[in-house]
Amino acid sequence: MATVKDYSVEEKLAALVKLQKIDSKLDAIQILKGELPMEVSDLEDEIQGLTNRKNRIEEEINGITEFIEQKKNSIKEAEALVKKYEKQSEAVKNNREFEAINKEIEMQQLEGKLAEKHIRDANEELAEKAKALEFAKKQIANKEGVLNHKKGELQKIIVDTEKEEADFNKIAMEARKGMDDRLLYSYDRIRKSYRNGLAVVPVERDACGGCYNSIPPQKQSEIKQRKKVMVCENCGRILVDDDLNNAVEIK
Ligand SMILES: [Zn+2]
Repeated sequence: MATVKDYSVEEKLAALVKLQKIDSKLDAIQILKGELPMEVSDLEDEIQGLTNRKNRIEEEINGITEFIEQKKNSIKEAEALVKKYEKQSEAVKNNREFEAINKEIEMQQLEGKLAEKHIRDANEELAEKAKALEFAKKQIANKEGVLNHKKGELQKIIVDTEKEEADFNKIAMEARKGMDDRLLYSYDRIRKSYRNGLAVVPVERDACGGCYNSIPPQKQSEIKQRKKVMVCENCGRILVDDDLNNAVEIK
């Protein structure tokens, strides 16, 4: 029959500190794994927004170009009409007819001038839009450069962290073996109840390293003796002395 080794409180505390350090590393990896894809998807959203803007500008440019073509046709039509009326005016029979035709000619000339002004305005607008388009294209190219860089970075980090994560998971499993079940249960319960995942904390500057509640000197000396598992009255975390916390190292 295998004999179960009896661990001292000090050994149990050291094992807890070790497990906490491994789990904290795993927590940090999870945060990293969550942040990087978010950065990438934020960039992808930005690029999508810029591309939409670029497409809108291109549509506007098409609209203005079409408008200019229409106005050019209007000028041609007006010119043709002027020519037609001028020819007609050669064959007028009286003053009234002559004046009526002259009025038509003036009208068409005015139409032509108006169309020319519209074209000038539209060309100015076109130049503005072309500038905006150029700018949007540059912004997209910049963001795409950053995105590609980030994606490469992310890929590398994912590969590295996967290996690291597997290693830490393995040593966490090993660290759990042979640990006191009740202590492990408390550890997991406390860890789950705090967002930063800290269940075992050192006493730092006379205070709990988890909630910063001050620890009385009497309690601190008990913690230093390592004869009992001590918890913070305020947050319930397991307290260890700073020296023990610093002595435990993980690879
Ligand atoms: Zn506390």
